[in-house]
Amino acid sequence: MKKILVTGGAGFLGSHLCNRLIKEGNNVTCLDNYFTGSKKNINNLINNKLFKIINHDIIDPFYAEFDEIYNLACPASPVHYQYNPIQTMKTSVIGCINILELAKKTGAKVLQASTSEIYGDPTIHPQPESYWGNVNPIGVRSCYDEGKRCAETLFMDYHLHEKIKIKIIRIFNTYGPNMNPDDGRVVSNFIVQALKNEDITIFGNGTQTRSFQYVDDLIDGMVRMMNSDNDFLGPVNLGNPNEFTMIELAQRVIRLTNSKSKLIYLDLPSDDPKQRQPDITLAKDKLSGWMPQIQIEEGLIKTIKYFKSII
Ligand code: NAD
Ligand code: UDP
Repeated sequence: MKKILVTGGAGFLGSHLCNRLIKEGNNVTCLDNYFTGSKKNINNLINNKLFKIINHDIIDPFYAEFDEIYNLACPASPVHYQYNPIQTMKTSVIGCINILELAKKTGAKVLQASTSEIYGDPTIHPQPESYWGNVNPIGVRSCYDEGKRCAETLFMDYHLHEKIKIKIIRIFNTYGPNMNPDDGRVVSNFIVQALKNEDITIFGNGTQTRSFQYVDDLIDGMVRMMNSDNDFLGPVNLGNPNEFTMIELAQRVIRLTNSKSKLIYLDLPSDDPKQRQPDITLAKDKLSGWMPQIQIEEGLIKTIKYFKSII
């Protein structure tokens, strides 16, 4: 049994990770400030003796002994991370330093949830980990993109200078149950709109692409990365290479929900990446043949079922 800290554990991904780690018999502490997360996401664990919840903001230092730390705390949807960009940047930079200092004091191994956003609007397609990205440093998405890039730098520097055991994963668009219905991400928006027979909001002309990964595949990759050889630090891409346009996504959601919704076209937000697809060669090689198992149709059906139960 390991003692594990999950920052952002009450959020979408964090709640799935806490469940997986508890199922494996670990002692899990969820630390969250509930900015975008909710106790509802971890309700099923609250009476579990292996599970503990701490209400804390990682911008403030924190001390307790752990074997492993998964650092997931950070708003992830463009609507939420742009709501208070300074807080977002503080979470990624000051919060990250606090977590790395904790790892330094306690000897814990620490994994950073980085993002495909560090590639910005990519000029290389698909994106391998060796690509340095194309990021606007002063745009509306910069607080998140540059914050996460700085966090990767901090992780590497703490590893090189302080000998901290680190792991970095770059997560590509992930969806599934426990997504916040109001957080503005495309999968949750389209499903909620379709279930209510409301207009489906396509930003721009809808030809921009993303590659969507079901949450269970990501969590499996994340845990494999934490347990991989100590000399494999990453960064490693975790995503499903199956790429499609936002129009294709909308049509699929309409079909699967039997919806009467129509597509409407709204302005494209600035700096919205035109395309995104992970090159997962490294993950397959280093994480014991890890591969996404759940394809879009199956994943959407599970996610639609979840949203039907909450709206
Ligand atoms: P989420 O918004 O559902 O979860 C983030 C959690 O962090 C929430 O519970 C929130 O309350 C908490 N939090 C935010 N700031 C905090 C702070 N300063 N101190 C303590 N807790 C704080 O988002 P998610 O989709 O679960 O994302 C989790 C992590 O994965 C994030 O770091 C995100 O950048 C990364 N990521 C997610 C995706 C994705 O597609 N879901 C893609 C790339 C990277
Ligand atoms: N998008 C859209 N309609 C929506 C929400 C998002 O067309 O209601 C588009 C958005 O412009 C982007 C893509 O869907 O091109 C993915 O958006 P999301 O916010 O989910 O993730 P990210 O842009 O961070 O990859």
